[in-house]
Amino acid sequence: MENCIFCKIVAGEIPSSKVYEDEDVLAFLDISQATPGHTLVIPKEHVRNVLDMSADTAQSLFARVPKIARGLQKATGADGMNIINNNEEAAGQTVFHAHIHLLPRYADGDELDIRFTAHEPDFPALAALAQSISQEVQA
Ligand code: AMP
Ligand code: ZN
Repeated sequence: MENCIFCKIVAGEIPSSKVYEDEDVLAFLDISQATPGHTLVIPKEHVRNVLDMSADTAQSLFARVPKIARGLQKATGADGMNIINNNEEAAGQTVFHAHIHLLPRYADGDELDIRFTAHEPDFPALAALAQSISQEVQA
């Protein structure tokens, strides 16, 4: 897609530090390394994000993640890894060509701070919400 920075990387019009490539998928180092080895995995096909993605594209994209993640872990010596995907601006998406962040984590400390706030469970509310989501997923 014209003016998409990641399509330009796929086309080789913009340089990238590639770590994996096949017919459908490309992985390269994020230009801004949130942790050492921070990698992006993208479908070569232009698609906005996961909310817009076909099952076929998702299948090829997500299927490559474990292999790339294992190679990344070996190469960096990371102790763990966060795998994150941002969809739409409200979720922090800034590049609107789908991508999965692989973030190697280091037990002796790194700069990333991802934490969920703990809340008291409200079981009736959970049940009602699950039911309404379930209806939409099946629709
Ligand atoms: P997100 O905020 O989830 O949309 O992530 C977009 C990511 O793309 C950011 O982490 C940027 O650092 C990264 N990025 C933007 N331009 C480039 C580029 N030319 N090469 C590699 N990574 C990039
Ligand atoms: Zn694109």
